[in-house]
Amino acid sequence: MKEKIYKLINQLYFEHDLMEEDLVYLLDNLEDETRTYLLGLAYDTRNNHYGKAVYMRGLIEFTNYCKRECKYCGINAYNKDAKRYRMSKKDILSTCSIGYKLGFRTFVLQGGEDPYFTDKRICDIVRTVKERFSDVAVTLSLGERSRESYKVMKMAGADRFLLRHETSNPDLYRWLHPFSSLDSRIECLHSLKYTGFQTGAGFMVGLPWYTNRDYARDLRFLKELEPEMIGIGPFIPHSSTSMKDYRPGSLDQTVLMLAILRLLLPKVLLPATTALASVDTRGRKKGLDAGANVIMPNLTPLRYRGDYSLYNNKKSTGSESAEALKMIKQELESYGYMADMSRGDSKMCD
Ligand code: SF4
Repeated sequence: MKEKIYKLINQLYFEHDLMEEDLVYLLDNLEDETRTYLLGLAYDTRNNHYGKAVYMRGLIEFTNYCKRECKYCGINAYNKDAKRYRMSKKDILSTCSIGYKLGFRTFVLQGGEDPYFTDKRICDIVRTVKERFSDVAVTLSLGERSRESYKVMKMAGADRFLLRHETSNPDLYRWLHPFSSLDSRIECLHSLKYTGFQTGAGFMVGLPWYTNRDYARDLRFLKELEPEMIGIGPFIPHSSTSMKDYRPGSLDQTVLMLAILRLLLPKVLLPATTALASVDTRGRKKGLDAGANVIMPNLTPLRYRGDYSLYNNKKSTGSESAEALKMIKQELESYGYMADMSRGDSKMCD
């Protein structure tokens, strides 16, 4: 059996592909030794394409209003305890200015699905950011919108768009989002690709009832979609949601998924997410060692930061905050990595 596992891992490394059945077999039968081997190959693969550089993104969480119902999320529309805020255009621009002076050349503008931010308002913000800071990339993360909406945002100058698919299991997707469907999520991802965005997808690790078959399907889904960015992180329960009593996803399972994704899509941009750093102090290092190559320090003004509470104990200060850049750089160096402040496009775009 061990021989077969090594063969499958080598196939992942050399061919960057593995069918669903083989992925299930691999996940069912990994042991410490073979897992260490797989993680090592993921580490080498990241080094072959990106070296030890870790791209830095300045994250601006500009609104926590959201019209959606995602059961796991602390700022979903039904959470009456959430203290809502919405940053003005002026606030967003001055935050970009602070980030620019710190050296950031990618801003990630992330928010809930807030109807206040119409296409017109978003395009105006994107256009102004790109005019003022001509060498930056703008990444949007605003949820599901129409193809037309994505198109005008792309034309306004936005470069990238993150939209995690969360799970490729349609029944579970419906349970997590009772008024939405996986089909419409996937349609949005295809629209983003069609529109020319560098597109990000991804899933949550450790959702209730998840099986290795589900993980294998998520991995296959991403392999076939070929996004330029993949954001995955452990599910972390939020005390104000109906999922507050479910068990969180594990660090080790998340790290394993990162490593397999690095082997399936060697040039993808793969963040060691805040959720990973939030579940374990070694989360960021373990993520990087498994092939991740992006981190997203938080630039959101401190007065709002605590209110963007997607899950409990979310890290947004210390080494997750952009103002502590020196600390972040030192932390990366201590792990053998180097912060790269350039706009850092995916090498899939070369
Ligand atoms: S996950 Fe995103 S879309 Fe869903 S409720 Fe939270 S902010 Fe809104």
